Order: sequence, then structure tokens, then C-alpha cells
Amino acid sequence: MAATGEKKLVRSQSGLRMVCMNANDTSPFTLPEPQWIPDADMGYCMNRNCQAKFDFMKRRHHCRRCGKVYCNTCCDKKLPLPRMCFVDPVRHCNNCYENTLKENEFYDKHLKTLLTGGEFLMLDQDENSDSSESFLCKLSSNNRLLTFEGENRKRESILVDRIEAVQVVTTDIDTQGNKMGTGIALRYKDNYGDSQTVKMEVIDGSSSKKQGMTWVAAMQKAFKMIFESRTDSSYP
Ligand SMILES: [Zn+2]
Ligand SMILES: [Zn+2]
Repeated sequence: MAATGEKKLVRSQSGLRMVCMNANDTSPFTLPEPQWIPDADMGYCMNRNCQAKFDFMKRRHHCRRCGKVYCNTCCDKKLPLPRMCFVDPVRHCNNCYENTLKENEFYDKHLKTLLTGGEFLMLDQDENSDSSESFLCKLSSNNRLLTFEGENRKRESILVDRIEAVQVVTTDIDTQGNKMGTGIALRYKDNYGDSQTVKMEVIDGSSSKKQGMTWVAAMQKAFKMIFESRTDSSYP
């Protein structure tokens, strides 16, 4: 049996990929590879504004992200695609290029914020929990767990796969009357399959508050991607 976190190199029609030996280690950000539209099904470039006819000179190319067929001009941009675990940059159509570009910004910047963590006060839904203790909340290196470390104790980790909803909590109103974020609420299934909600409040005090809100913003972006991955898993 493979050790936790161990990876292997696999070759698919789209290129080399570095994937987890054990599917249980797979990051929740991962997207499955699309099924390629067969060459024979498509006589024309699938970019509506192009529709070039394929022949000996005009060859077909597949976008690695959506699997559709394009001419070289409409599919010649290469980008790293970490959500599909490709080792090298791969071909993208114009649409997919924009999406991957945004996500790669997440990988470069926001993911680091989530791994570094933020300090929060934790308020459980019905418990009269002691809210005076702060916890450092971070995403584990395999992106599968949220861990909470307090000065004196730990809280049980939350499996990212079991998070059902993420909502920014706004309570403060600034001098212009704008609502300001003060934390984030997570709804998740606990180990017994029961739904739980926990509210994480940023801590007042300049540096931790800023770090906390940056973490909340990164978490929101992360969940947009994760919810997308979940709907995409039904991809044929
Ligand atoms: Zn595409
Ligand atoms: Zn084209």
C-alpha cells in the first residue's frame, strides 16, 4: 500500500501528470480530465468566431481543459494546469485560458494564505463555547483538512470534502455605511454525519485582523473552485 501523500507519474493523451498513489490523498481542488471530442466528429474549429475547416494543412488540436477541438490559432496558448496535475504547461482554448489564468493566481497567492493560516475565535452553533481562546486555522498541505490549533488545545479538524457551505459573516458597518466582513461561517458534516455550523470570527487588533480577512477571502475563492470540482465530477 502506498504511503500517505506518495505520488506517481502517469501519461494520458493530454500529457504527463503527477497524481496521488492513493485517491484518498487527492486535493479537493483537482478537476478530472475531460473526455476528448473525437476528431472524426468535428470537421470545423469549435470556436464560433473561427469555424475554420480542417484539412491536411489545418490540423485539429484539443484543449486539455475542456476537450473540445480547435484549430491551432484558437488553441495555441499553453499554461500550467495544476488542477489537472499536469507536469508541463498544456494547450488551452481561449475560454479555458481565462479560467486557468484566474485559478493559477489562486495557486500562486491565495493558497499560500490558506496554508499559512489565520487567527480566529470559534463560535459553535448551539454550544456555549468559550470564545475567548483563539485558534490558528489552516489548510493542511494536501488541502484536505482544516486544522485548528489553540494555545492550550486543539479542535477537531474539518474534512474539506465535508464542507457544504461557506458564508462570509458581515456585522460591522463602517463610517460610510458599508457592511464589513468580520469572519466566516462554515457548514459541514461531522464524523457522525450530522450537519454542524461553526462561525470563525477575526480577532480585533490590526495585524491578526488583516491576516484573518485575507484568509477569509482566500477561503471563499477556494470554495468556489471546490464546488465547481464537485459538479464537474459528474462529467462523463
Ligand atoms: Zn477549452
Ligand atoms: Zn479556430
